[in-house]
Amino acid sequence: MPLEEYASKRKFENTPEPAPGSAEGKFPPHYFCVQRHDATRLHYDFRLEIDGVLKSWAVPKGPSLDPALKHLAAHVEDHPLEYGDFEGNIPKGNYGAGSVMLWDAGTFELLGGVAADAQIARGDLKFRLHGEKLKGEFALVHMKNRGKGNEWLLIKKRDESAAPGWDIEAHAYSVLSGRTQEEIARNLPARESKRARAGASDRVWESSRPNTRSTGGSTAPAPATPKKKSMSTSNRSSRGSKAPAKPKSRTA
Ligand code: MN
Repeated sequence: MPLEEYASKRKFENTPEPAPGSAEGKFPPHYFCVQRHDATRLHYDFRLEIDGVLKSWAVPKGPSLDPALKHLAAHVEDHPLEYGDFEGNIPKGNYGAGSVMLWDAGTFELLGGVAADAQIARGDLKFRLHGEKLKGEFALVHMKNRGKGNEWLLIKKRDESAAPGWDIEAHAYSVLSGRTQEEIARNLPARESKRARAGASDRVWESSRPNTRSTGGSTAPAPATPKKKSMSTSNRSSRGSKAPAKPKSRTA
C-alpha cells in the first residue's frame, strides 16, 4: 500500500488533511499540484499524479521558471489524490503543522518515452507542466549516492516558457482561493473572484521592494476584486498599512 506512510504520520481526527479515499474523477488525468507549506520551514510540495497517487517532492526554495536554477527536491511519501486541492491549516502538534496554500495546479505531459514509474526508478523524470504558474518542460533528477538517498533536483528546461530571473515571491497567492499565506493562516475567506484570480499572475510588483518576502500581496490588490465584501476589504486595508511582514525562516 503506497499510502501507508502518509496515513501513519497523521491522525485524521486532528488534521483537516484528507484521509486516503476515492477521489477518482475529481481531478483530470495527469494532474499536478504544488502546495506552499509554511511549516517549521517554508517549502513547496511538488506533486505529480502517477499511478493513482500523488508522487511528492518537498522543495525548500520552490520550483522556478529560471532554467539556471537547480533546486533541491526531497522525495517524500506518496500523498493520496484527495490531497490535490487541499488548502488550510494543519493544527499545532500534528505532522507538518502550519498553513498550506494550493500554490499551483494543472496537468502534465510525461516526456521521455518511458513509463513514469520507470523514469522515477532510473532517477530521471521528464515532463511538461500546464499549470497556472508553472509551464513548460522540467526534469526531476535523482542525485544518487548523496545524503539520505532522497535528494533530487528540480530543473526547468530551456524552452519558450523559461523565464530567467523569475521571482517566486511575486506569485505567493493561492490558485484556489486567491489568498496569501497569511490569509490562509488566519482563516480569512477567499478574497478574489475566479475571474480576478485568472489575471493574478499578471500582477506587477513594485521593484522598489524586491527583497520583501511579501506574505501580503497586500500591495497589489487585484483590480477586479469587488469593493463591497466589507469584511475582507477592511482586513485587507488594515494589512496594507502595516510594515512589511516579519521575516520568516525560509532557508531549508
Ligand atoms: Mn510539506
